[in-house]
Amino acid sequence: MEDSDKDQLLDKFIGSALGTFVGDALGEPVEGWPHGVIYSQFGLLDTMIREEGRYTDDTQMMIGILETLVEKGRFDPAVCARKFKENFDPGRGYGRRIFGVVERIRQGIPWDQVGTDSFGNGGAMRIAPIGCFYYADLEAIKANAILNARITHNHPEGLAGAVAQATAVGLAFQHGLSSGPIEVEKFLDSITAQVTDIDKGFGEALDGIKPIPRCSMLEVIEAIASRYNLSLRAIESVPAAIGAFVLTDSFRDAVVLAVNLGGDTDTIGAMAGAIAGACYGYGRIPEEWLNPLENGEKGRDYVIDCVKRIVPLLLQ
Ligand SMILES: [Mg+2]
Repeated sequence: MEDSDKDQLLDKFIGSALGTFVGDALGEPVEGWPHGVIYSQFGLLDTMIREEGRYTDDTQMMIGILETLVEKGRFDPAVCARKFKENFDPGRGYGRRIFGVVERIRQGIPWDQVGTDSFGNGGAMRIAPIGCFYYADLEAIKANAILNARITHNHPEGLAGAVAQATAVGLAFQHGLSSGPIEVEKFLDSITAQVTDIDKGFGEALDGIKPIPRCSMLEVIEAIASRYNLSLRAIESVPAAIGAFVLTDSFRDAVVLAVNLGGDTDTIGAMAGAIAGACYGYGRIPEEWLNPLENGEKGRDYVIDCVKRIVPLLLQ
């Protein structure tokens, strides 16, 4: 493996991890707002509204997955459950059910018995490191995305959402920057092939992206926002985030499109940022978004440092 290959793996892996962080922090101030309200207030929102780009549960749980890969050299759900518990900060916008999950982990209940029957996007929002780490093997992406999601989510839609998002990250990671634009139908069909046996309806939801033409950003936003109910339900929000990636040509446009869809904006932004970051790399994330990211004990530099410790494992 050449140094340039290592550099590209690092660029893409950091891109996906910080892509999650950036999308989360950009979308957080307007979480729950419908598209029309965001648009009337900001036009197209494309700046960090707050002085400090603070992350929410999406990024905090992604950090737990990074730490698991650093500690074990592979994904391990028991270790990851412990990391989720150790990192848990109730001020980070966690869903109600996660408080119970964390409490059960604290009580020593095994990782595969603490989750709930949630169809939410919590398994998908944090999954970027699994898609990057196992990028060369779609079967491994699927198996580890399921293990990861099952810590918190047992509903087929919640599991399929995590596998779909991890697969999108893995395919974007594999995609060379010189290989031309993503082929939308092929990209979506490869994801559907990974999830159909988990949830029959998920592929149909992904197919909703196919007829949307690549017109102006505002028209694409309106098309996606009218097709999907942009709640925290995985079968709605994961296809929307994947759509934000396949219907744009840059990291910036993918994330701007995602956070302006409205609804669960921090998570849709985090997921679109994870996929776009895996494709375009760290070097394409706008500096005006990177600079304000919180950088305390487990902030921006910590995320980069974790990835730097993981990428050499990909080269062995
Ligand atoms: Mg969140």
